[in-house]
Amino acid sequence: MEPPLDRATIWPYLDGEPGPFHYARNAHPVGVAAERALGELEGGEALLFSSGMGAATALVLALLEPGQTIALAEDAYYGTGVLFSDLRRWGIEHVLFDQTGPPPPGADVVWVEAPSNPLLTMPDLAAAAAHPGLVVCDATAATPVHLRPLELGCDLVLHSATKYLAGHHDVLLGAIVAKRPEHAARLLELRSRTGIVAAPDAAWLLNRGLKTLAVRITRQTETATAIAERLRGHPKVHTVRYPGFGGLLSFDVTAARRVETSTRLILNATSLGGVSSTMETRHRWEGDRVPEGLLRLSVGLEPEDELWADLEQALERT
Ligand code: PLP
Repeated sequence: MEPPLDRATIWPYLDGEPGPFHYARNAHPVGVAAERALGELEGGEALLFSSGMGAATALVLALLEPGQTIALAEDAYYGTGVLFSDLRRWGIEHVLFDQTGPPPPGADVVWVEAPSNPLLTMPDLAAAAAHPGLVVCDATAATPVHLRPLELGCDLVLHSATKYLAGHHDVLLGAIVAKRPEHAARLLELRSRTGIVAAPDAAWLLNRGLKTLAVRITRQTETATAIAERLRGHPKVHTVRYPGFGGLLSFDVTAARRVETSTRLILNATSLGGVSSTMETRHRWEGDRVPEGLLRLSVGLEPEDELWADLEQALERT
């Protein structure tokens, strides 16, 4: 059963005392139901935030001190590095490293991404777990269907739940799943104080999305595997990056702008992880961090042959 969509911001005290729900900035029933479902999938204690970046901000503010250093995967989502650069004036430093190898020894926090967006590298999780610092894994693109980082030695998992977890391009949401109860408690405390919270409507949509997560991801993996293979055989495609699971891939062509504006079925839009396929050049956002001809494709639930026919006709226009 779906939990009822309770949009209340207040609940009456019980015998003059606050009950489990009293003010929505602290907790609300739909949010707690979605957190329970996600926590079960990841094997930890989940907390929702207003967006993926809201979750990342909360994690840094709750668990780090000024003067500490984050070792960030050099090809992690570009917005994560932008956020950390902004937080530098609050005394939080970050250094970049190649996540396919061991993290730099002196860092207080190791922040990896599985797989990275949009270069699709996988972190060496064993090397990260062996590091003495706090290990955070942004597993937005892997989802718990393919990877459960807490079981592999990570301390915290982060999701842009806007992507695969909610899955329909209609909700902005973030989540952190903590292995240690003291981390979850500190994150909850900071979330209540700062108000970086998820609204009940968003939490309700996440809860519904989680019910089809495994079915969606399984199908997206099948289709993306086949599309990656077909792209590898196409004469106009230079490089294909696909980690072997999930719905996200990227590939390079000479006239990427022409290809992205020529698709009819695949939306020329940002974001990823929805039931509708989306594709865009990433150079416009990320500059020389990525090749100019890189196209990021998020494979949705459309039939493989229809997606391939769309890509083929777009590639033929170049
Ligand atoms: N982490 C990854 C891997 C992402 O791809 C994104 C967004 O694209 C984020 C975090 C940020 O999430 P949000 O857009 O929900 O703030």
